[in-house]
This record gives sequence, C-alpha cells and structure tokens, in this order.
Amino acid sequence: MIRAIVSFFKLPSLLLLSMLCSANEGTIAFVGATIIDGTDAEPLEDGVLVVTDGRIQTVGPRSDVTLPQGAEVIDVAGKYIMPGLINAHGHVGATIGLNGNGGYTRTNLLRQLSLYARYGVTAVNSLGGDFGQGFRLRDEQFNSDLNRARIYVAGSVVVGDSEEAIRNEVNRNADVGANFIKVRIDDNLGSTQKISRPLFEALVDQAHRRRLPVAVHLYYLDDAKFMLMTEADIIAHSVRDLPVDAQFIDMMTASDTCYIPTLTREVSTYVYESVPDFFEDPYFLKEVEPAILEQLSSPERMSQVAGSRSAQTYKAQLPTAMDNVGTLHREGIRIAMGTDTGPPARFQGYFEHMEMHMMVDAGLSPHDAIRASTGVAADCIGMGDIGTLEPGKWGDFSILTEDPVTDIRNSQSIESVYIAGNLVPDE
Ligand SMILES: [Zn+2]
Repeated sequence: MIRAIVSFFKLPSLLLLSMLCSANEGTIAFVGATIIDGTDAEPLEDGVLVVTDGRIQTVGPRSDVTLPQGAEVIDVAGKYIMPGLINAHGHVGATIGLNGNGGYTRTNLLRQLSLYARYGVTAVNSLGGDFGQGFRLRDEQFNSDLNRARIYVAGSVVVGDSEEAIRNEVNRNADVGANFIKVRIDDNLGSTQKISRPLFEALVDQAHRRRLPVAVHLYYLDDAKFMLMTEADIIAHSVRDLPVDAQFIDMMTASDTCYIPTLTREVSTYVYESVPDFFEDPYFLKEVEPAILEQLSSPERMSQVAGSRSAQTYKAQLPTAMDNVGTLHREGIRIAMGTDTGPPARFQGYFEHMEMHMMVDAGLSPHDAIRASTGVAADCIGMGDIGTLEPGKWGDFSILTEDPVTDIRNSQSIESVYIAGNLVPDE
C-alpha cells in the first residue's frame, strides 16, 4: 500500500524528467570496435553494438548486422568496447574527503556514483552503511535516463548480542528492500570480539527465510569454512591468514560460492606509509582533490601508518591473499571483482582498475580479470540484466582506445562510458 502511494506521487515528476532529459530514446549503433562482451567468448573484431531505449538490441559482426533505420551511428573503428565494470563489494555515500562520516546525502551519493561511472564502473554493490537515500537511488535506476553508476544496497551491517536482535535486524533490512545481508565474522586481528557462531547461524537462517543472500566479511580460513557450512552465500574479502587448502576448495566447489578478493583494500591499509606510485598517475590525479594528497603525504600521517601493527600485518599477509586468489581461480572458483572502496583513501573508480591489475598479478589472465569484473560479478551478485553485452541487457559499457585483453593496464584507456546507452558526462 505504501509503495503504491509513493509511486503515485512520483509519477508527475518522472514524466517531467523524461520530457526534459536528453535521454537516449532512439537507437544508437556503435560500429567497428573489437567487442569484449563479458562472457567467455573471444573478443569480436569489427563488431556492431546496437542500443535501443537503454538496452542492448543486437551485438554481432559488422557483416551480419543490418543497422536499424534512423539509428544514430557512432564510428568506433579501431577501438574496444567492454561491459561496464561491476564492483561486487563497495560502499557508497558516507565519505567526504578523508572523513568517513561526512554525511549520507543524496548529493554525496550521486557525486560518488558519477565518479565511479567516469572510471567505467557502472554498478556498485554497496555492502553496508546504506540508508534511505541509497535505497531510493537504487529504485530510481531502472530507466533509460540513467547516466551514473547503478547501486545495490545491503542496509546496515547486521550486529546484535542475541538471536532475537540479530533476526530483528535482518528483518529490518529485508523490510526496507535490501539486496544483500552483510555480516562480519572477524576479530580485526585479535582486537575485537567476533560474532558467536550460533548468532551467525541464526543470521544466515533469517536472511534465507527472507530470501536474501548473505555477504560475509572474514579474514581467517577457519571462519571461511564455517561460513560455508552455514550456507552463507558470498565471501566478501580474501582469506588472508593461511593458504587455502583442499577441504576449503572442495567446499567452495560443491557450493559454487563466489569469492571477492578486495586486494586493494589490503593495499589501502599500508600503502600510505610512504608516497604511493599512483600519486603520479594522471588517471588517478584527474579525479582527486589536491588537499587529500597533501594530507595523505604528510610525514606525521605516513609514520603513523608505518607504525601501525594492523597495517603492517595486512601488508605482510597480502602475498597470502594474492596466492589464494590465484589458487582458487585455477581451481575453477568464481572470482568477482570487488574493492571495498568508499571508506577514506580507498579511491572509488581508480581502485577498481588497480584491483583488476592485481588480479592479473595474482594469476588471472586479463580476459579472466575482465570477466570477473563484468559477467561473473553480475552472476555473483545475482543481477541478470547487467554485466555482459548481450541482447536485452542494459547498455552499460566503456569504449577504450587500447586493448585491455592484451594488457590489463589498458583498462585505463577508457575514452567514454555509456550507461543505459547514455554518455556519462565528463564532470
Ligand atoms: Zn566493506
């Protein structure tokens, strides 16, 4: 009933919006590019991608595709098209500058979703810290006017000191329409108390009663095995304490569970102990405020990071995390790109590219890293209408000048980004 009332009052403004916006209402044909479609198919040379009213109508070789009458034709010969990147684990809304609690407003959410979009990240699965404005933006994005990244939401990270409290919190998130239930099973390197196993089991049970998947923040291999026994749905960080073993691999395979490495999250914990190399990368600098660079480069702050026990532990365990990604990938486990960007100094947009590059360093081929960041990520978060360039899906993609399949570092050669067939503005 409430929903019906809300949509009734929304109707006039939506109508007005669609009359005012210069949205893509016709058909656009992108002609001549090599198309990397986000499936396991080989890239298609000299391809044609046709988008009608925000959705992909046709993809095929130029010789097979008849351009629709009246289509706007964009010549992209010699370029590359790949699906928009999907960040399967991010956080949207809270951070302004280096303040992690700057205020969760619609303006700040839109600013961040536009930033992601300019980097070719066209969807973000926000796993916790989501409030009403984020849910509203999620509800508004299924239309052909969209030109910022899509957002999916988990609501609160569920905590509670009794089974009743846990179940109530799951219900509260489910009632407001969360896409995921997010939980942490972690003691933050021994500094805090972990959720008890009975409470964790109650949480998974309640989420599944509400037909919601559970995304799990974890660190230890033992907790990862326990979480799989409870049939929780997705691993939202790398196993970092130990190399994964045969038992874990068997459990992952049997349950077909996805694994989100968030390698750049580890980097962000220690990298500001000195001035990182990427502070000289124009692709990073084009979007970052100089004041943030200054703060992160201050000697006091750098020595604080250098002296942080937790930062140095995460740094020491990063090779284990990377080895685990490589092992799991070789064993056929589905890897989904995720970064945990959003909190201060985890740079939205730029870090998703760095994550793909690190996934290749960990043993994925560039094509597999792109798959992990597009089609596989969409499967892992259960979003069937994004992630690949196939008829019926949303027209979310990037046009690149260099081939990311021959060298993943070319992911940064994005020239333009389209969401629902709309060109993402430069600013
Ligand atoms: Zn997170």
